[in-house]
Amino acid sequence: MGKAITQRRVGICILGAGPAGLGAAWELADKGRGKDVLVVDANTKPGGLARTEVFGGHRFDVGPHRFFTSNKEVHALWHRTLGEAFRPVQRLTRIYYKDKFYLYPVSAFDALPKMGAVQAARALASYAYAFVAKDASKAQTFEEWVTAKFGTRLYESFFKTYTEKVWGIPCNEIGADWAAQRIKGLDLLEVAKNAFGVALGTKPKTLVDEFDYPDLGAGQMYETMAQRAQEKGVELLLNTRVEKAHHENGTLSHVTARGPGGTMDIFADKFITTLPITRMLAMMKPAVGQDVSKACEQLYYRDHITVNLIVDREDLFPDQWIYVHSPDVRMARLANYSNFSDKMASRPGMTPISVEYFVFRTDDLWGKKDDDLVELATSEMEKMGLVSAETVSQGWVVRETDSYPTYYLGYEQPYSIVRAALDEFSNLQPAGRGGLYKYNNMDHSLYSGLLAARNMMQKSNPYDVWKINIDAQYHEGGQRL
Ligand SMILES: Cc1cc2nc3c(=O)[nH]c(=O)nc-3n(C[C@H](O)[C@H](O)[C@H](O)COP(=O)(O)OP(=O)(O)OC[C@H]3O[C@@H](n4cnc5c(N)ncnc54)[C@H](O)[C@@H]3O)c2cc1C
Repeated sequence: MGKAITQRRVGICILGAGPAGLGAAWELADKGRGKDVLVVDANTKPGGLARTEVFGGHRFDVGPHRFFTSNKEVHALWHRTLGEAFRPVQRLTRIYYKDKFYLYPVSAFDALPKMGAVQAARALASYAYAFVAKDASKAQTFEEWVTAKFGTRLYESFFKTYTEKVWGIPCNEIGADWAAQRIKGLDLLEVAKNAFGVALGTKPKTLVDEFDYPDLGAGQMYETMAQRAQEKGVELLLNTRVEKAHHENGTLSHVTARGPGGTMDIFADKFITTLPITRMLAMMKPAVGQDVSKACEQLYYRDHITVNLIVDREDLFPDQWIYVHSPDVRMARLANYSNFSDKMASRPGMTPISVEYFVFRTDDLWGKKDDDLVELATSEMEKMGLVSAETVSQGWVVRETDSYPTYYLGYEQPYSIVRAALDEFSNLQPAGRGGLYKYNNMDHSLYSGLLAARNMMQKSNPYDVWKINIDAQYHEGGQRL
């Protein structure tokens, strides 16, 4: 005989305990509604993509996570949560391309000498040509936008390969909106300002800036938030995967979840979902219509592998992370957590490093054995001159699905169908990165959770979480508050 299905009833059920789900739980708890709230997450710890994993006593995020925001509320909440354990870090980030390291964001005065006289002259000529002859506002694709802004040569050196590694599609199949959102303007004025800064001996503001970071990794923020919400009555069910979402007459009645204690039906008056939107719709019982399921198939996420290494050395390189543009290695980025916080390594003399590969689950890398991935990451770092293989003492692999919602050319059409389908459910609020299919950072994800929770506490839904905006200045040039 199969195990009996347990039944639970709560006021508000939150699906997912990442920044968005926990933001919602926190807001409800803070307003005295904690005892009404149950949060369910498939992971064994809270934090979602922003969690911190501990291996051999050393700490690793799922790829580097810096905290910055221009949203005053999120800024205050982060600081209130961790107080002095949330500290400013001076950022240093570089690009690795063809055996050289270039400052990021790219500075003409750093990059041009490193490129050599001939390449530099070609880059300047193509930049000048683009400046005079091209109009980025007419660009349809990422490639058109970047070449119009920076010229073909700089596009090929500093944008093309990294972007294609991250997204797994050619830059002429990625929408121009994406570039406009993500790439800080580097215009002639900016170049002149940098030159002036260098001449005066002051550091150009764009090259090194500051972000905040918890002592014990990004996940410390969300573990603390989860703990505070629990102290105010919120129940957190970890290691519990939602498998079905049952609905009737435009209302979600309950979800079926599987955890260590077996299967559970969780009935709630209201639900907040931060699960990848296409997965959420695929769980619906009865199933969504054919047009919606077809639109779900057309939207896809990029998956992500982090190879976490412990190196028996310190002071390996000064950056928090390095973007790896070179096409001769498959990694796209690597991070040095000792440069985020000296508490990330369990003892001095060691360095926790993560090496990131952006993949689809159908790619050869996804199916590789962990040991082979550790060997690949180690050999690639050795090739780049950053470590010697015998200093790498251990390695662990984290595979993360549905990490990056993909803004391929034409995604808006299936997206609008999927979004409308979710909006049909009167007692279901979406929030977060995967939940809204938006390339949100932690601050936007968290904020969407706060607003979803506020909607739950009102008769109408006054906040439109789909409208939480993303703009270029905000993403790449966010000022500290
Ligand atoms: C490599 C990488 C680097 C990043 N760097 C930064 C950075 O530097 N700064 C920054 O601000 N942001 C960064 N981000 C973005 C940040 O991680 C996200 O914005 C944030 O984590 C999204 O929060 P969320 O709660 O919306 O979703 P998630 O964090 O994805 O949380 C969703 C939760 O839902 C759970 N879940 C999924 N399916 C189920 C199911 N069926 N049943 C139960 N639970 C389920 C998952 O386990 C997860 O815990 C980065 C992201 C990645 C991938």
